[in-house]
Amino acid sequence: MLRGPQNLPERVRAVEERIAAAAARAGRSAHSVTLLAATKAQPPEVLRAAADCGLRHFGESYLQEALPKLDALRDRALTWHFIGQIQANKTRTIAERFAWVHAVDRLKIAARLAAPRPHYAPPLDVCLQVHIGGEASKGGVEAVELPALARAVAALPRLRLRGLMCIPPEETEVARQRAWFRELGQLYASLNSQGLKLDTLSMGMSGDFEAAIAEGATLVRVGTALFGPRP
Ligand SMILES: *Cc1c(COP(=O)(O)O)cnc(C)c1O
Repeated sequence: MLRGPQNLPERVRAVEERIAAAAARAGRSAHSVTLLAATKAQPPEVLRAAADCGLRHFGESYLQEALPKLDALRDRALTWHFIGQIQANKTRTIAERFAWVHAVDRLKIAARLAAPRPHYAPPLDVCLQVHIGGEASKGGVEAVELPALARAVAALPRLRLRGLMCIPPEETEVARQRAWFRELGQLYASLNSQGLKLDTLSMGMSGDFEAAIAEGATLVRVGTALFGPRP
């Protein structure tokens, strides 16, 4: 029996329509925003149902929980993103099994991801997590340290620096949500004006993805709005 929402196709379509509408309001094409399904705490059959709905990008947050799901969905052409905090002793497996890593915030971790990236695989796509909003509980590199870290990570072999990611404080007011995302958007523009070729702004979750799209998000990480509250 499928655990999880029975109306997943409708939920997926509703989120896709909200993304398209937010993009249109910002004068952007719906195709400029990738929907990543954040699937932590969801069992493999829910991921399979999401793949049946046409979703291709899946984000997992905990390596031990993720690996059986990657195995269970081997028969599908999916792109796997590691979106959780990265422990130094897990970097080899992450580099071997995932296409993208979103929460890199130290050079040491980036180097530990680059070294074991298999030579038969394309370079590992990486985003740097930036500490936006000042909450002590949230990770990320501080904005002042970002340019040096970005240059160092971009110079590593076997890895491609694609962009920036953030998890700002929860806000219900759209103007305040947008202010946090605008900070990340400005850092992104500034790095690109310094010659880095970033194309990914990974920002926005169920409660704030429309505000993120208004501020330039190219990838939104959505769990609850697709799957309902996590068990
Ligand atoms: C869980 C998670 C999400 C999705 O959160 P929702 O509020 O359920 O949409 C997005 N990004 C990260 C890093 C997560 O851990």
